Amino acid sequence: MSSLIESILNKDDLDRSDIIALLRCGEEDATMLCRKAALVRNQYVGNVVYLRGLIEFSNICGKNCLYCGIRRDNRQIERYTIPNSEVIEAAMTAYRMNFGSIAIQSGENSSEEFTSNIEYLVHTIREMTNGHLGITLSLGEQNRETYQRWFDAGAHRYLLRIEASSQSLYRRVHPDDDMHRYHRRLECLKMIKEIGYQTGTGVMVGLPSQTLTDLADDIIFMRDFDIDMCGMGPFIEHSDTPLGKNGSDNLYLRERFNLTLRMIAIIRLVMKDINIVASTAMQTIDPLGREMALGSGANVVMPNLTPSRYRDGYRIYAGKPGYRKVDESNISGLRLELLSGMTVGFGAWGDTPHFEKRISKS
Ligand code: SF4
Repeated sequence: MSSLIESILNKDDLDRSDIIALLRCGEEDATMLCRKAALVRNQYVGNVVYLRGLIEFSNICGKNCLYCGIRRDNRQIERYTIPNSEVIEAAMTAYRMNFGSIAIQSGENSSEEFTSNIEYLVHTIREMTNGHLGITLSLGEQNRETYQRWFDAGAHRYLLRIEASSQSLYRRVHPDDDMHRYHRRLECLKMIKEIGYQTGTGVMVGLPSQTLTDLADDIIFMRDFDIDMCGMGPFIEHSDTPLGKNGSDNLYLRERFNLTLRMIAIIRLVMKDINIVASTAMQTIDPLGREMALGSGANVVMPNLTPSRYRDGYRIYAGKPGYRKVDESNISGLRLELLSGMTVGFGAWGDTPHFEKRISKS
């Protein structure tokens, strides 16, 4: 290992130049970085991987993010909303399989019908599982009242990715209109935190024109915002989007993958006791991508429990895995993978020590 990287890995606090050095270090140093991050994870949150059964509730979205396959203007997909009975059945599958938590994700929709439906689902799932099944929501930008209603119904975690903490980069990957304002997203993140959710955010790694300094600033943004959960993934082009219409270069995809592993490892060193997701996007690039993310300090995976007939419709990026696999094989395969290295936190919500500390301080 180089002496520079060794000295950085021995520091308690990393500054921006340390983070940039770690992002650009050689392969051997990167291996040491990931190993160190896994050790820090084991020390601060345990050698345990927590499960969040993912339910992709609806692909109807009012927004038009330039990178996303379910953006409003993509006419190539059939839109769906899963009926409540099937959402509840998927949640009960998670409960029966002792997952501990589910995550409900959807395109952005602020109608009263959508809001009250989610409220109903959260309330019903909590009741049917005697409050045992934890519920994470990832339903985009909403107003304070909506966030509060869902919190009061029993949701306790919310994931809203900032996608790019640099305002100029954010502007370049979103349409320039009032629906897609950086400040609005930031306001929403603040509201989520103030209401009392365990608050998660994250970024895409490898966006066009993104620099290592942007990525270092993303880490600093998440540290300064004092998040509880982080979900990051490599940017993967989708051919039916403005940012993906020219296709993908596999060489760059591999670079993005490696850079994402480093980002995961660095955020673990900087925020030792938070939850970090090993995203399925990693698995799209490398079949062992999710395991490699766990080996770099991540501690959460989100097995897909969306009923299989809807999965083709939730292709937010190209080549997302698990589309045509039946649910049970998807999950048991996952279990085998996971059991190879870490203990699976069956039945546990897997809240972070970070959140407990943050709440006790405030
Ligand atoms: S990223 Fe989210 S808000 Fe943007 S188009 Fe996709 S689903 Fe909609």
